[in-house]
This record gives sequence, structure tokens and C-alpha cells, in this order.
Amino acid sequence: MKNLVLFGPPGAGKGTQSEKLISKYGFVHISTGDLFRWHTKNNTPLGQQVKEIMNSGALVPDAVTIAILREEVAKHPQAAGFLFDGFPRTVAQAEALDDLMKALGTAIHHVIALEVDEQELRKRIAKRRTLESRPDDEEEKLNKRITEYFNKTIHVLPYYEKQGRLVRINGVGTIDGIFAEICALLDKP
Ligand code: AMP
Repeated sequence: MKNLVLFGPPGAGKGTQSEKLISKYGFVHISTGDLFRWHTKNNTPLGQQVKEIMNSGALVPDAVTIAILREEVAKHPQAAGFLFDGFPRTVAQAEALDDLMKALGTAIHHVIALEVDEQELRKRIAKRRTLESRPDDEEEKLNKRITEYFNKTIHVLPYYEKQGRLVRINGVGTIDGIFAEICALLDKP
């Protein structure tokens, strides 16, 4: 079982690359953003709890996020491998993920950081706005999400770097070119 974290700021292409990786390798995809969106859309108690936070572009508290992640992982005892997308976003989440993987007798094998500069991110999200409506893609909220990324989430990178598990990939290029780079890494014996 190989487990992968796909890491990057909003608009880096995590969703696009996840889809391609899942169809090629059969990963179980766990996106905490998608899980939270499902809850808000269905107006569950958790959805009501996180809706305002998400709409503001801020991060949901660790305790809530870690709980939902554990619950989701537990639903897939037969998984050939997990692809974590949008998680971890804090060092506390990264530690919790390591503990969880260890308890399952496995580990996070690869952490891939898709690197895209801020100007390009804004350009991509402006384009995404014309295709789908996400309240947190609005200008002010997007600013908050980018700030959260550069203030909090980026600190997760040294956590993995120190352990030699981080690979940085240039997220500016063609979708297929970036995908090929990720595959080359995953296919290495
Ligand atoms: P995403 O689709 O991954 O950009 O997530 C959308 C929103 O969900 C984020 O802006 C946060 O409010 C919340 N969220 C998703 N994943 C996490 C996480 N790992 N930690 C905290 N908040 C999260």
C-alpha cells in the first residue's frame, strides 16, 4: 500500500492531478475540502459548524478536521492506497496523519508539493470562477485562503522535508507534463 499527500496552494492543480492519479493507480481519494463541502451542502450538524469558517476562507480547526479525516480513512479498510488532497494543512494535522498511518501499519510514502506562484494562482482561480461557483473563490475569501496557505500550511513542508519525504514539482506547465512527472516518481521502484 502506497500513500500519497498532494500538497499545494489553492489553484495549484491538486484536484486535476488527483483525478488522473486515481484513475491510473486506484487510490482512495480523501479531500477534506470535498468532505466539508458535502456536509455544508447537506446542512449536517458538521456542515453548519464549518460553513462560515469555510466561506471566510479560514482553516477549520484541527480537532474537527482530524476527526473527519480519521472517520473517512476508517471507511476504507481495503484501500490499496490513499491520496490525501488538501490535508494536512498544519503541522498538527501532519503529525496526526503519521500516527493514523502508523496505527494502520503503513506510512505516508510520498509528499508531492505542486509549486505555483501567487500571480498564476490568481489567474487560474479567476478562470475557475467563470466555470463553477465556489463561495470561497470570491476575491476577498480567496485572499484569506492564500494567506492561510502562506502563513500556516507552508510550514508543513519543512516537517516532511526534514524526513526526506518531500518532492517539489513545478505546477506550472501542461497537465499531462506535470502528471508524467508525478507518475515517474510513483513508479520508481
Ligand atoms: P479546499 O477545497 O481543499 O481548498 O478546502 C476548502 C476549505 O475547506 C478550506 O478553505 C478550509 O476552510 C476547509 N479545509 C479543507 N481542508 C482543510 C484542512 N486540512 N484543514 C483545515 N481546513 C480545511
